Amino acid sequence: MKQAAMKDPKDLGQKPPFPAQEQEYPGVESGMQPRPDHGETSYRGLGRLKDRVALITGADSGIGRAVAIAYAREGADVGIAYLNEHEDANETKRLVEEAGRKAALFPGDLSSDAACKKLVEDAAKAFGRIDILVNNAAEQGKTVENFEELDAERVERTFRVNILAMFHIVRHALPHMKPGSVIINTSSIQAYQPSPEILDYAATKGAIVTFSKGLSQALIGRGIRVNTVAPGPVWTPLVVQSFPANKNARFGENSPMERPAQPAELAPAYVFLASNESSYVNGEVLGVTGGKPLG
Ligand code: NAD
Ligand code: MG
Repeated sequence: MKQAAMKDPKDLGQKPPFPAQEQEYPGVESGMQPRPDHGETSYRGLGRLKDRVALITGADSGIGRAVAIAYAREGADVGIAYLNEHEDANETKRLVEEAGRKAALFPGDLSSDAACKKLVEDAAKAFGRIDILVNNAAEQGKTVENFEELDAERVERTFRVNILAMFHIVRHALPHMKPGSVIINTSSIQAYQPSPEILDYAATKGAIVTFSKGLSQALIGRGIRVNTVAPGPVWTPLVVQSFPANKNARFGENSPMERPAQPAELAPAYVFLASNESSYVNGEVLGVTGGKPLG
């Protein structure tokens, strides 16, 4: 994506229709058509995160990969947590190292407290501390037609991965976070405009907003800020493994931008909230929705 030239933002990313496609959980970047733009050829850093240590969950692909690239180019070392998409994770690692920064891979299913503890301990061992924690991993199940399809097993798993893991990761990470550290949690426009077909997911995203607002009050005494990013539609593996092929072909069509965001368009929000430039921004929800209002 070329950012320097003046251009209508509606024309800064690919528009639907896209080729009809569908994937199984967790979805991989290489299977997507067109391939998402993570800022590989466009993001230019200004040293805003020089020598910080970032731990990003779900950093193998999508928004997490775009954030990893941007953070590395801003001067940060990056811990890349992900489920099991090793090929995607290795590509993110390669991009971080290409920026001259250290990268470490942390595969694992974050649906248990023990796994969250292990992630934090492994990251602390690899980097010595955590300055920026981005809780970005999430599971979005296949869309359902009837509410009853959201059975106990699915709902409980969605809550474990999407919101309970945030409680656990933060609790374990705090001993490794000094004043000046930041936490950024990924919510969604689904927190405000829930789709009944993915109501379990939407409910976790609402919980993340409330969690983050409260956590910011709990942690500012220690000099740690907490903020939330709420994306609208973004062209990532999570989308094509959740929605049916005919929906994916039209993904983002109802946005005021007439297209989904590319992951690259999310990264600057995460850079802003991580850097000292947002030093007085705390407990905030930053929407990157293309114009659909939050709330
Ligand atoms: P993505 O699939 O690229 O990233 C999600 C990542 O979460 C995966 O790569 C996977 O490694 C990780 N993950 C999933 N289940 C896990 C588990 N059990 N344990 C550990 N890691 C697990 O998709 P994305 O769209 O970039 O998603 C990133 C965040 O953005 C998510 O929180 C998602 O809810 C949010 N979001 C996405 C959209 C969108 O349209 N794509 C919109 C709003 C919010
Ligand atoms: Mg992935």
